[in-house]
Amino acid sequence: MSDLELAIEPIAQFTLNHDDPYSRLALDRVMGAALDAYDIRHHAARHHEEQDERTAHQEALYAALAAVGRAYAASALHQAAAVLIDVLDEETFMALGDTAAALDLNVVEDLNGANGTGEDDEGPEVRVFHGADGWVFSFEPGTQPCTINRIPEGRQDCTDAAVWKVVENHGMHLTIGTWCDGHLPDEHRHLAPRSDS
Ligand SMILES: [Zn+2]
Repeated sequence: MSDLELAIEPIAQFTLNHDDPYSRLALDRVMGAALDAYDIRHHAARHHEEQDERTAHQEALYAALAAVGRAYAASALHQAAAVLIDVLDEETFMALGDTAAALDLNVVEDLNGANGTGEDDEGPEVRVFHGADGWVFSFEPGTQPCTINRIPEGRQDCTDAAVWKVVENHGMHLTIGTWCDGHLPDEHRHLAPRSDS
């Protein structure tokens, strides 16, 4: 047993963590699910069932745990199979993997690298264009407003001329933004052509 005990250090590898990029991907997914479950249940308890805050919090926490428990179980089984591969027969190894996938396939795929890590992505190809009079698109009348107005958390109402057009090629689709000079995202500014005026 002592060999086995050595093999399973450190214990953190069996949970989801931020140290490993694949695990981080899974953890971010699980965190999102937990927050959603918490918010939905908390809202229902407070506003539809008129529970007090303490009860609503408990109910919401139960919902969050229920939403992520399978993910953690899947992670533990998947990682245990990987660590113990030398001492498991093939049938047991496969059965552990199948059980992990049945518990939470998304997490298993994250841990296997099937969904990338978000770190090796090169991101979309970005091109930036300048138009002193703003930009008119065929599908909408008038010049395009500053894209900052479409970002919900920004809640801006920018009326400056949107002189920059940013085209992002994501491979399967394009996204196009039009930005005033002040709101052009910093990460795109180095791509902006020099002013010709
Ligand atoms: Zn703007």
